[in-house]
Amino acid sequence: MQKRILMVGAGLSGAVIGRKLAEAGHTIVVCDERSHIAGNCYTERDSDTGVLVHVYGPHIFHTDDEEVWSYVNRFEPFMPFVNRVKTTSGGSVYLLPVNLHTINQFFGKTLRPEEAREFLASVADNTIEDPKTFEEQALKFVGRDLYEAFFKGYTVKQWGCSPTELPASILKRLPVRFNYDDNYFFHRFQGMPQNGYTQMVEKILAHERIEIRLNQRFSRADAEGFDHVFYSGPLDGYFDFELGRLGYRTLDFERFYADGDYQGCAVMNYGDVDVPFTRITEHKYFSPWETHEKSVCYREFSRACEEGDIPYYPIRMADEKALLQRYVERAGEEQKVTFVGRLGTYRYLDMDVTIREALDTADAYLAAQAQDRALGAFFVTP
Ligand SMILES: Cc1cc2nc3c(=O)[nH]c(=O)nc-3n(C[C@H](O)[C@H](O)[C@H](O)COP(=O)(O)OP(=O)(O)OC[C@H]3O[C@@H](n4cnc5c(N)ncnc54)[C@H](O)[C@@H]3O)c2cc1C
Repeated sequence: MQKRILMVGAGLSGAVIGRKLAEAGHTIVVCDERSHIAGNCYTERDSDTGVLVHVYGPHIFHTDDEEVWSYVNRFEPFMPFVNRVKTTSGGSVYLLPVNLHTINQFFGKTLRPEEAREFLASVADNTIEDPKTFEEQALKFVGRDLYEAFFKGYTVKQWGCSPTELPASILKRLPVRFNYDDNYFFHRFQGMPQNGYTQMVEKILAHERIEIRLNQRFSRADAEGFDHVFYSGPLDGYFDFELGRLGYRTLDFERFYADGDYQGCAVMNYGDVDVPFTRITEHKYFSPWETHEKSVCYREFSRACEEGDIPYYPIRMADEKALLQRYVERAGEEQKVTFVGRLGTYRYLDMDVTIREALDTADAYLAAQAQDRALGAFFVTP
């Protein structure tokens, strides 16, 4: 039977679930409080330079999921793009992730892979047996000099706390490569939508049974008249923050222009703690197949998210996890609402994972419909 379904949020979660349910014959309304679709991966042409700007910060698509890769390419052709990040630290520019080139440059050596392994073992702090904190883990892996140049300052700025307060689990593996590979990601597929993410999402939403309502903020009373709601807004926001606010980091972007080239690459991190921003992104480098005379760049600053700010990165420390658990219990009591996406489930999700979960959620809904039962799907791993 045809259902009337509300998608809260016109980001990837709302668009992908909405499209799949529309194709299955349901009627979909997608609302978003913003004046545009595409959520946080929204891109737009800068009117001064013509450069495609990643308005809420740079988004690089990378995945091992072949089905997700074909899904996005069905709506927008993807162009080759490899993320190669640089970092400025102590007055020099290095390649990230820390690799053989970084190590040799930093220590003024010409080590081969095995020699570099032995060298790092000799400078690592072997007195730490059972690392409890991020700092101890990093010192045990790479020693103080590399830790301070490449991990410490950036982490302090990004998370607003000392690495001694963060758990060791953040650095699960040795964060170093013993070869010259500076491709930031390991995934099989990597690229950028030729005309930006907004156009891709526009095409996903272009279906006769999908209606889009922008500048419309959802509140619980708006669920009236719908058979089901897929909610991709903030989990605590759905409950009007009744139990308190889940912690997030927010970002401030300082946009500036340059003639020609500003920095010669897409992403330049700044590892020194006395430089207030974490990185500078030069957006024309995210579309290397285009040519532009002028350049538009973002200086990116990270800080605690307050009321009215855009929530970017969930802080999943012990206090937040306890509060999350209480919200998850409340959410479990909702009969006709499924919480989805990065805000609805309070997790950092890459785009490919968001799309995979959205496709699976839509399938679960359709399967539940076929058996005439309610959907209990709620993707959270507190
Ligand atoms: C800084 C940053 C960089 C990133 N870079 C990458 C990257 O390089 N590669 C990658 O794969 N992923 C990246 N991501 C992750 C990517 O942004 C997410 O995977 C994706 O945005 C998740 O889509 P979503 O639909 O779940 O959420 P969103 O895109 O946040 O969409 C949710 C939508 O819901 C709307 N909304 C919220 N509350 C309400 C309400 N009450 N009423 C109506 N509308 C509401 C919002 O306005 C928003 O448009 C990055 C994320 C961040 C924060």
